[in-house]
Amino acid sequence: MKDNILNNLNVILDRIEKACLKSNRNRNEVKLLLATKTVSSEKIKVALQANQTLIAENKVQELKEKFDDLKDIPHTNHFIGHLQTNKIKDVLKYDVSCIQSVDRLDLAEKLQQRLTLENKTIEVLIQVNTSNEESKFGIQPENTIELVRQIAQLDRLKIKGLMTIGLFSSETEKVRKCFQILKSIQQEIIKQNIPNVEMNELSMGMSGDLETAIEEGATIVRVGTAIFGQRMYPDSYYWNENKG
Ligand SMILES: *Cc1c(COP(=O)(O)O)cnc(C)c1O
Repeated sequence: MKDNILNNLNVILDRIEKACLKSNRNRNEVKLLLATKTVSSEKIKVALQANQTLIAENKVQELKEKFDDLKDIPHTNHFIGHLQTNKIKDVLKYDVSCIQSVDRLDLAEKLQQRLTLENKTIEVLIQVNTSNEESKFGIQPENTIELVRQIAQLDRLKIKGLMTIGLFSSETEKVRKCFQILKSIQQEIIKQNIPNVEMNELSMGMSGDLETAIEEGATIVRVGTAIFGQRMYPDSYYWNENKG
């Protein structure tokens, strides 16, 4: 088990490095985030002990279950799943430094309320639905800038960039299109110079498409399967509103 994870991790690090070379990017610009949904604490520990530091869950329940097991190993937690407003209190309890999946004003406002009460701030990425698939969350591309402007007024939320899940397709050029859309929204937001908004992070690319994402400007790639192996549940279990 351990060797597998370490081997897989090396393969991924190698893929990231090659993609950076190919697209003339500095390796330091791209962070590897481990998507740990359904992965046991034991397996996550193997990766953390191999100097990985950034992990993310999709469900608050899993964050909670693994929290104690992992708390003594230094690492950073992001949240990448659909966040229901009744789970906000919990997500803040378990040391999440960035919520990558903010995709609606209602959620942002409730976060603001709770953060004010706790006298905290949190980093957020705005999740954009660049693939137009109904099963995926995220604000529509054409509504993103408006949402960013609204969330920028909430002083407890620190916008750091954008996140997307690319189209699931073996046609690289269709997937690439999604990443290009995210990048172009980022560029437009930068141009508008909105107070309280930073746009340095582009979280895009997963096990199957991280090279394309890096070529299109990803600063965070989120990898699960290619490191920890196949999951028992299909991704629709995590990405579908009804089953959230
Ligand atoms: C599961 C997940 C990933 C990682 O996907 P893999 O294909 O397993 O690498 C990335 N981002 C999000 C939002 C996820 O839910």
